[in-house]
Amino acid sequence: MSIFWKQFISSFLIIVLVLFLFTFLVIGELNKYDKSLTKERLLTTANLSTQVLKSSLETPTIEGVQSIVSGLGEKTGVRITVIDKNGVVLGDSKKNPREMENHSERPEFKQAFNEGFGESTRYSSTLQKEMFYVAVPYQDKNGKTTAIIRTALPLSIIQQALIPLESKVIYMGIALTILALLLSLAVSKTTTRSLAGIINISDELAKGNLNVEIPVSDSKGEIPKITKALNHMAQKLNEVFKQLSHEKNQLEAVLSAMSEGVMVVSGKGRIIIINNALKEMFNLTDGPIQKPYWEVLRNREVIKLIEGVLENLKPDSKEIFYLYPEERYYLVNVIPLNSPEKEIIVVMFDITEFKRLENIKADFIANVSHELRTPLTAIKGYTETLQEEAFESPQDQKHFLSIIKRHADRLINIVSDLLVLSEVESRDALSKANENRDFEEVNIDEIIKSSLEALKTKASEKGLKVSFETTESGHIITANRFLLEQMFINLIDNAVKYTPEHGKIGIEISSRDKETIIEIYDTGIGIPKESLPRIFERFYRVDKTRSRKMGGTGLGLSIVKHIVIIHGGKIEVQSEEEKGSRFIITLPT
Ligand code: ADP
Repeated sequence: MSIFWKQFISSFLIIVLVLFLFTFLVIGELNKYDKSLTKERLLTTANLSTQVLKSSLETPTIEGVQSIVSGLGEKTGVRITVIDKNGVVLGDSKKNPREMENHSERPEFKQAFNEGFGESTRYSSTLQKEMFYVAVPYQDKNGKTTAIIRTALPLSIIQQALIPLESKVIYMGIALTILALLLSLAVSKTTTRSLAGIINISDELAKGNLNVEIPVSDSKGEIPKITKALNHMAQKLNEVFKQLSHEKNQLEAVLSAMSEGVMVVSGKGRIIIINNALKEMFNLTDGPIQKPYWEVLRNREVIKLIEGVLENLKPDSKEIFYLYPEERYYLVNVIPLNSPEKEIIVVMFDITEFKRLENIKADFIANVSHELRTPLTAIKGYTETLQEEAFESPQDQKHFLSIIKRHADRLINIVSDLLVLSEVESRDALSKANENRDFEEVNIDEIIKSSLEALKTKASEKGLKVSFETTESGHIITANRFLLEQMFINLIDNAVKYTPEHGKIGIEISSRDKETIIEIYDTGIGIPKESLPRIFERFYRVDKTRSRKMGGTGLGLSIVKHIVIIHGGKIEVQSEEEKGSRFIITLPT
């Protein structure tokens, strides 16, 4: 049953019940009042009759009494009966006293005789109707009761007098009931309308819609107060939700912008939050929320680290090596959050690149030391020999000195290549920061020609055929002239070095879209397949002895690679052993 009907029926029933009781009581009271009025009338008539009958009752005769009683009865409209002390009827305004039986057993007679006043409501066998009787005693001069004066009225008369009044009360009751019905309808409607508003807003709030507002009536009372309070609550909740979702969005934005993997784990070891970086680290596609953290992190050391923090609630961190999904180093920081739920936050920094650079640096230092030690040891050895042994022939001395010079030259070569490499490496870092300001428009053809010029003698000594194919106008690009020259000298020098006598070296240059492609080729010894991916590493040489003999340092191609990168280009190599090599450089114009 709806609230409306409940409210309406209950309030209506209460009102009807109250009205019914009220009408019932009013009618009862009316009856009582009417009876007392009738009693009063009958008593007055009886007392009056006593006075009127006084003389005739001194020596009572039926004729004498009857004539007065008939007159009195007619005038007062009340039945008057006079009964002597033995119950013999002396006069009656409604009937012939002679025909009437003895009245000594009538209750009102007896009561009046004994108590000085009698009253009864009963059926009159004389008149054959319900009557209301009042009886008073008549006392003679000596104060002795010699007769009883009785007055009576039929009950029907008394009740009839009440009928219009009673029906008025009943009609009023019905009218009031209809009014009550209408009023309860109206009250229930307003109440349920307000309640419906409250139920509505509660439903909407439960559904999560916080933008609701119920209209509030101006009237005072509980329901408008509740409505106002609900509106206020919805508004406050809305504000708090907006604030919370704003903060959540901010947190999500920060988390997804982070390159570090972040994960929040509940005190029970379940994942609450995980950011994209961490999902990518472990190739997670499905949402791992609510999964246990060990199912995602899958590394015994990390699990032990997290377990420790969950237990001790003290921050801890460790460098951890992962083999799967790929070989990577992570610095894992685990920090307990200061919350009652005892959550912890796991932050994973990918330090693989850092580790790689660290290794490269260590390798480089080891390589440099090794490379420098060989010529230095040789120089030291030969110098000591020169010091200790007395060489008679100046030719021998010359021979040793020339060896010392060769090693010194090698040292110079290594140091100057290292300097160039360090220079190009720092420029490479700067180019990443877009800070190369010494670029200018250069004609590559001219740079290649001057590089070839520098190595012309070396090439012709080996009887090499050198060719350079280009267009007449040349090729203009924006670049650093000095670095490009360094790059071509290194590449042409290698071609000359690694091509046997009477071989051929050449340079081809062409333009395509916004790129200039320069190819340097030779018909030399070529590079074994397995060495191809490594030739750009520092100090890498396919054949160390051969390279050293040629005066190589193993740094030339590292320098070339950095110069290409500085210019935003790329370098590839094609090579076949005993057939030759081809270095292809693509530079943006
Ligand atoms: P190096 O000073 O030894 O020449 P580079 O860095 O210039 O050092 O070259 C690295 C290695 O690559 C060389 O030692 C050589 O083995 C190989 N290489 C470079 N250029 C050529 C080439 N044109 N033909 C054959 N091998 C080459």
